[in-house]
Amino acid sequence: MSNNTLSSLPITLRPRPKVGLGEAVIGREEEALVLEVLRSKRLFRYSYDLVPSEQGKMTSTLEREACKLMGSRFALAVTSGTAALEVCLAALEVGPGDEVIVPAWSWISCFTAIVRLGARPVLAEVDDTLNLAPGEITRLASPKTKAVLIMHYQGVAADMDVLVPEARSAGLRILEDCAQSPGATYRGRRVGTFGDMGIYSFQINKSMTAGEGGLLVTDDARLYERAVRMHDLGLYRPPHELQSASRLPAFCGAQYRMNEITAAVALAQLRKLDGIRAHCRRLSSLILDKISDLPGLTFRKIPDPAGDSGFEIYFYLATHEVATAFSQALHERNVNCARTTGTYCQYSRDYCITRAVYTERMSPFRDFAEWPAAGYRSVDFPKTEGLVHRFVCLPLGMLYTPEDADYIGETIRAVQREMEPVLLSGN
Ligand SMILES: *Cc1c(COP(=O)(O)O)cnc(C)c1O
Repeated sequence: MSNNTLSSLPITLRPRPKVGLGEAVIGREEEALVLEVLRSKRLFRYSYDLVPSEQGKMTSTLEREACKLMGSRFALAVTSGTAALEVCLAALEVGPGDEVIVPAWSWISCFTAIVRLGARPVLAEVDDTLNLAPGEITRLASPKTKAVLIMHYQGVAADMDVLVPEARSAGLRILEDCAQSPGATYRGRRVGTFGDMGIYSFQINKSMTAGEGGLLVTDDARLYERAVRMHDLGLYRPPHELQSASRLPAFCGAQYRMNEITAAVALAQLRKLDGIRAHCRRLSSLILDKISDLPGLTFRKIPDPAGDSGFEIYFYLATHEVATAFSQALHERNVNCARTTGTYCQYSRDYCITRAVYTERMSPFRDFAEWPAAGYRSVDFPKTEGLVHRFVCLPLGMLYTPEDADYIGETIRAVQREMEPVLLSGN
């Protein structure tokens, strides 16, 4: 759009609000808990001079409150969301020779965690929810398929009423990746509790953050014990015995333990999570009230609108070019928006293009004579390709005000009016 067109928009420029979720509300609560840890000088979770019930005050409080909030029996704090994925896959006994179905449109580690354990990620289409498309599990399941990784993309729960029965009738385990949607609900229930295991991340860009960190939940005592052993060198130390008595032998695990300072920050943030969601949902609905009827804009389908986290609004435009022009017009009017969000199609990422693993012997791709093989090329994903290049994403954050929301809504209306002929002709 030319500056000419812009100046005709009946709106005064407003400064851009800063984006940011949990990071933007770090404050006294985090400070107090971190100071408590520092003053106690107990930075390590397992302090042998204390009785088991008093070890790891912050990590165990974080886990207890996460269980309560999410509605699960067990929770385990780990070093990152990626570590949580690896721990869960290991707990589910995913390994060489196995396949795991995962949306092609997902975060890097949804793919790399599976490969790191020696299993093969089998990429699936997403639909206009930008989550795993119904029917894909049935289409892709083979005798080698062990599990499906259901990622709840950017605040919105996948359509679990359809996906869970589909996975179960294919005999698959379900791992839910809730890193981008902590606390989101589907039909009144929190994501992470529909499958066998669920994971969360406390990385800096997430709704709740400690800079880095991760957490997993499960209702299954056996999976919990396996996860604990995987995250702590195969050990199952006394504080975990208090959660569930050991019934399994030791095995060789990794070392993905969370420290008490990280847990202190994560705990303060977990306590803020529903407040963050409420703020974003309020602003998101203010914007949607203004724009949801606009011709030419098709909104991301949200399977259960009552439960989403509201920190990003997505709408599709007719083509890639139209979406580029639209987002450029919004940028020029100081409306934060994006064409991508850090998530890309796995088949267009370097590690997938090279298909390399740290040693060729670990590669789940080494039996393919040709590369990229079918299932790892963009042509194999017409549905996904038809969606992910033509959306505009509006981020919201804790520093956005209702006035910002009002401005964003009005600006989008004005840009839509200006561009209406292009929007409706589709070029
Ligand atoms: C961020 C993220 C992860 C990984 O979390 P880290 O803590 O950064 O390792 C995993 N899955 C999804 C969907 C994510 O967005």
